[in-house]
Amino acid sequence: MASDSSKTLCRPGDLVPKAGIYRVLHQNHRDPHEVSLKLNDSFPPCQHCGAEVRFELILPTQEKDGGH
Ligand SMILES: [Zn+2]
Repeated sequence: MASDSSKTLCRPGDLVPKAGIYRVLHQNHRDPHEVSLKLNDSFPPCQHCGAEVRFELILPTQEKDGGH
């Protein structure tokens, strides 16, 4: 168990473990922003910081909505 990371950061090329809204954490070229990603997509690299960008899940998509 990691002792100092309560947050899970994902990297480009990783598969999306949960559908939802992710915060995109860049290197110095821009502020964090959010993207919506689907389960089993792969996280995209950034055009600017490439593989250095990180993704943090902030709002999982609710997959059960009570039936339809
Ligand atoms: Zn970037």
